Amino acid sequence: CGIVGYVGPQNALDVVLEGLRRLEYRGYDSAGVAVLAEGGMATAKKAGKLANLEKALVEEPLPAATIGIGHTRWATHGGPTDRNAHPHLSADGKVALVHNGIIENFAALRAECETAGVEFTSETDTEVAAHLLASAYAETPEGPGRLAEAMRAVSNRLEGAFTLVASHADEPDTLVASRRNSPLVVGLGETVDGTAEYFLGSDVAAFIAHTREARELGQDQVVEIDRTRGLTVTDFAGTVVEPTAYTVDWDA
Ligand code: GLU
Repeated sequence: CGIVGYVGPQNALDVVLEGLRRLEYRGYDSAGVAVLAEGGMATAKKAGKLANLEKALVEEPLPAATIGIGHTRWATHGGPTDRNAHPHLSADGKVALVHNGIIENFAALRAECETAGVEFTSETDTEVAAHLLASAYAETPEGPGRLAEAMRAVSNRLEGAFTLVASHADEPDTLVASRRNSPLVVGLGETVDGTAEYFLGSDVAAFIAHTREARELGQDQVVEIDRTRGLTVTDFAGTVVEPTAYTVDWDA
């Protein structure tokens, strides 16, 4: 339902929670966040209002981090429970992924993962994408753009509607996202002391408190945000494309 992502110098959890609050108007049944800290991926997710998640985060704080993703869920596959809330992790705990939409061919993909020995922890259509991204990443040669390449490989296998945003524990400077039949926008923050910041959102409300400079992704595109390489958008085949630039002109 609602998606927020952040890479930059600020405390990622604060930025992500603030974005989720701005997306509350869309309606949702659960909420969750993941941050990529020194010790690896850390998540918190709760059924019910954002306040439930915020309470859980006070009781069990997440480590400080400068890369994070968040989601407010409107359940389509699997009830509105803590376990079914996003982000979903891959079996090795390295990938955290949030999803808007419906993956129509999830049952076949889930069966394939289960045959390969993966144990699922939710009833969602989404979780399969986290496992597939972890295995696609493992099969992709090391080097710049590896996580984006893995995201393209996964995107090419999915049918239906999806905005996906994902982070990988072995890629502490990178956030990737993909979209088909579901919206995705990038917010460009300010560069302070040579450090750039970027926001991802299912709509601009996710980052309107921070920037009005946006890039809109087109159908079947993948975006990679990297602290040093910046923003790269490609189609699902890997050809670089120029995203549509616009400035948000309504009042926050
Ligand atoms: N189909 C996914 C689920 O049920 C995502 C729903 C949404 O867009 O929030 O978990």
